[in-house]
Order: sequence, then structure tokens, then C-alpha cells
Amino acid sequence: MADPFVKKTYYAMTLDPVHIGTGGYRLGRVDNTITREPGTNIPKIPGSSISGATRAYTAMAIQSANQTEINKDYEIDYKKYLKWKYQRPRYKMSIKGNGNAIIVVDADKKPLYEGDNPNEPKYYSCAGKGADDGEGHCGAPDCEVCVPFGFSKNGNSFQGLAQFFDARILFFPVHSMIGPVWITSPSILNALTSTDTYAVDKEKFKAINNSEQIGKLNFGWLMIEQGTPSEIPVDFSAFSDSGQFCNNICNKIMNRAFLVSDKVFSRIVNDNLEVRTSVAIDPATGAAEDGALFTYEAIPRSTIMWFEVVYNKPEYFRINGQEIEKCEESGGTLTKTKADVAWIETNVKKGLKYLETLGVGGMNTRGMGRLRVLNIGG
Ligand SMILES: [Zn+2]
Repeated sequence: MADPFVKKTYYAMTLDPVHIGTGGYRLGRVDNTITREPGTNIPKIPGSSISGATRAYTAMAIQSANQTEINKDYEIDYKKYLKWKYQRPRYKMSIKGNGNAIIVVDADKKPLYEGDNPNEPKYYSCAGKGADDGEGHCGAPDCEVCVPFGFSKNGNSFQGLAQFFDARILFFPVHSMIGPVWITSPSILNALTSTDTYAVDKEKFKAINNSEQIGKLNFGWLMIEQGTPSEIPVDFSAFSDSGQFCNNICNKIMNRAFLVSDKVFSRIVNDNLEVRTSVAIDPATGAAEDGALFTYEAIPRSTIMWFEVVYNKPEYFRINGQEIEKCEESGGTLTKTKADVAWIETNVKKGLKYLETLGVGGMNTRGMGRLRVLNIGG
């Protein structure tokens, strides 16, 4: 029997330093640390951070593809309006036969909103987090955002058919006397390939797919010797779903890639994280706060990471007893058909694509956080 899910591996490159805080940070406190794997002390991007950002971006992408004007008679294309997933005003409206709707306005020509309670939110948004503003989720069984990412509405919650796992470092950039190089470790390559093929002596390095004899090489401040044999072959095209990863990266970075032991890898990574100093601004005066200089660490630019997403097949799920459907427009009419796993993945990829422009994690108003997913096509 086929699995009830499809697992995809994505590869990504950081375009800026990426800072995912441990949660306790405040401006003004020195040393804002980032999230790490507990066992290895290697920084990571938690799956929840990727999922949260991607959810908002999928909602934005769908809404911007379906923008529509309200004409002077307060008529709006209702089908497109329903696709406003990022911020949909809860207008009171009456549906017309032609598939449009008329927004009900008051005597001053101001649109009226649904619901009698003026304190009710004026917008639906499928973009936000469930816990805080989940009541804004539409929760519809054909929603391109709520179905993949989950929702909570009126006490009901639905987990979401796309499960995101942590992004882990695959190749970490570090300076050396031969210029920038990228390092990885046996446990990383073994985890990625589900093998135990890769090994290196504790205080040695091996060149990946490169027969050049280097002898000694420094990785940051740490000088180590090349092992024997000096080279280890890695078949990048055999990585699962490597797709465009190889086209984009293998030829450029991967002839400068080296394998070091897990222990040495952890040390080099933690000694070569980006550390920036910034200053907290007093919101009342707009000036720098006294003594508010703070430092924070980040995964540096041009780190290669990988993460998995498990897409559950929608045919195994129901929302409020209803089958999950996809609603697609063709020739001006909307048709509903049974949703398939490809529909879930397509909608998630719309959001993943925006990570390279809008970023993930904290400090992304300070030039941090952009992440390019390398094998999503397009
Ligand atoms: Zn929704």
C-alpha cells in the first residue's frame, strides 16, 4: 500500500545572516543567542519558524495573484475576493447572478461589515498564527492556506497537512588561507543519505570530490591536517530530491567543500557564527538608549541548509466531515475537485519562494533572514 504522505527534502542557501532567537531575548540584553540542536550544539532554524513565515507568504502570494478592484457601484469579483487570504475585509455583501457581489454601504457610502458587534475584527486572515488570532482563519475545506498549514476556529482546530521539520546546516562557510571554503561532517552526510558511509579522523579533514593535495589547512583559526586518503567522494545527485540544488550549487561551492569530524565541525561553526553589534532605540525619544548596545549571533550568509516537509495526502482527511477540495478557475468558472497532495505542495511552494525576498526569523528589518530555497522550481 502506498504511504499516506509524501516526504520532500529542500535545500536552501542563506542570502543574509539568519537569526532565530531562543525566545528570551529583549532589546538591550547583550548576547542574543540562536536556536541550536541540543545534542550537537549546532545552530538550526526550527521547523515552526519556516512554517510560520511560509504560511504568511503563501497567503500573500495567493491574494496578490487575485487582486481585484471594487468598482464605483461597489461591485466586486466575488470569486477573487474569496482568495484574499492575507487580509480579507468582512464586508456585508449581496451576491449577484454574474458571480460578482455588491458591498453594502451606509448612507455615507461607507462599507458595512458583517456581524453586529463593533469589536469583532474587520478582517479575516488565513496568514496569522493559530493561537493569537486564529479566529481570523477561514477554516474552509478548500483553503489554500488553512488546509496545508492548519487552523483553529471556533474551538475547532486542524493540524495542517504540511509538516515542517527543522532546517539543519549542510555546508557551513568559513574563511581559510585558500579563500572561502565550506565544511560538513560525517553525521550530517550520513543523516541526509541514510547511510553510514562517511567518516574522517577526529583531527583531520578530507577534500570532497577534489584530488588536490592541500596538506594543512586552516578553518578560521583552527589549523588541521589532511587525512588519508585525502579525498572522499560524495554523489550529490543521489541526495533525495536534489533537483536544482546540484545545478545551482554543486559546481560552484562544492569543489571547495571539506569533511571534518563532528566535534571539529561543531567547534568551527560555533567560533565562526556571525556576531553583530547593534543598538536599541528608545521609542519615546528616537535616540539610542543609554547602555543599550547589544550583540547577537546569526547563521552566516551563504550557509547551505536542508529541511524536510512531509505532505499528508488530503484524501485521508476530513474538515468538519467534508472532503478536502481544490477550487480552481477555468474559463471564468470555478470548479471544485478532490484535492491531491500536489495541490498541498504547490501552495506551500508559493510561500517558500518568498523566503528569498522577505526572509525568516528575527531582525529582518536589520538586513537579516533571507533564505533561497534551491529546489522548488520556477
Ligand atoms: Zn483559510
